Amino acid sequence: RLVLGIETSCDDTGAAVLDETGAILGESLHSQKEVHLRTGGIIPTVAQQLHREHIERVVQEALGRSGVTPGQLSAVATTVKPGLALSLAIGLDFSRRFVRRNDKPFIPIHHMEAHALTVRMLRPVAFPFLVLLISGGHSLLAVARGVDDFLLLGHTLDEAPGDTLDKVARRLSLIKHPRCSTLSGGQAIELLAKGGDRTKFPFRTPMGQTYDCCFLFAGLRNQITMTIKKKEAEEGVEPGAVLSCVEDMAAAAQHSVASHLAKRTHRAILFCKAQGLLPENSPALVLSGGVASNQYIRKALTIITEATGLQLLCPPPKLCTDNGVMIAWNGVERLREGKGILSPDVDVSYEPKAPLGVDISAAVRAAA
Ligand code: ATP
Ligand code: FE
Repeated sequence: RLVLGIETSCDDTGAAVLDETGAILGESLHSQKEVHLRTGGIIPTVAQQLHREHIERVVQEALGRSGVTPGQLSAVATTVKPGLALSLAIGLDFSRRFVRRNDKPFIPIHHMEAHALTVRMLRPVAFPFLVLLISGGHSLLAVARGVDDFLLLGHTLDEAPGDTLDKVARRLSLIKHPRCSTLSGGQAIELLAKGGDRTKFPFRTPMGQTYDCCFLFAGLRNQITMTIKKKEAEEGVEPGAVLSCVEDMAAAAQHSVASHLAKRTHRAILFCKAQGLLPENSPALVLSGGVASNQYIRKALTIITEATGLQLLCPPPKLCTDNGVMIAWNGVERLREGKGILSPDVDVSYEPKAPLGVDISAAVRAAA
């Protein structure tokens, strides 16, 4: 069985061909990161135009590298939810024409489900397991009970941690910092934080008093922004100049994001244990999404998993961010179980907003 996976939900145009063991036969990825770094954020129409310009080449490249012809494919899997409407539309449009032309089954993919399942491509991880997905667009805790069976324990109520770090980095003008000019906000903050003292700015962790699994990051960002303003006034510099205490600020911001994520994850583990949602034998926490590359955040989560007897599993950074491989893998998993496989002429639409599985965040809150 051979599956072509296509991803265009945000700012990466990705495609990959996988066999049913998860071997990557060919892949290609076009990242728009540099363009969006320059404009200070993703402009949806720009993202759409770039997907349109690159999708044909990216898919041809993945197929070419794999040596697989369209006729040999068993199915095409494509992200249809959630994501930016204009971006999703390009991948879906391309895929629908592709499957009709080649008379291939079509497998619509939930982007977050794909992030959650990627780990199973690399090693045998049995259901159920706990998953924490943290990226520029998402933050969620869920129990993966099967390929298409998820319990959503909590999600962000405002913004995602990657978005928070990107905005803080932008406010600190890290793009002007000589060591950070080509890095994403999260990467820049991680790098600078290494030389900083987090105790210089003791930010309050969000939702310290509530014991659910949801996330709030905007208030924390506000605290950070106010402190930056105060420091700018103290140092007598214009807003947008790089502060002398930028490393301490980065360390403190990173610490408070890590601390919030770790506390919510701890709560999720306790809830799952109390409800018998995880196996007694080697329960696991799977960590993925672009923010999962952060070593400090990983360390914070390791402290929690070690204290609660869970194994922390995290795909390599390349597979934590958006790519075609994880979409193809999700297609392989669905194909194996015969779940959600459509004939080439079925009408499918994209969904910009789509929760992952059954939302039980209210029950988690009530159980506190
Ligand atoms: P989606 O939410 O749909 O997955 P995305 O493109 O925002 O979309 P990713 O590509 O998974 O998500 O990740 C990008 C985000 O990860 C950015 O916000 C970036 O700042 C953050 N990030 C990347 N590396 C690090 C790091 N080392 N530490 C913290 N954050 C990081
Ligand atoms: Fe993603």
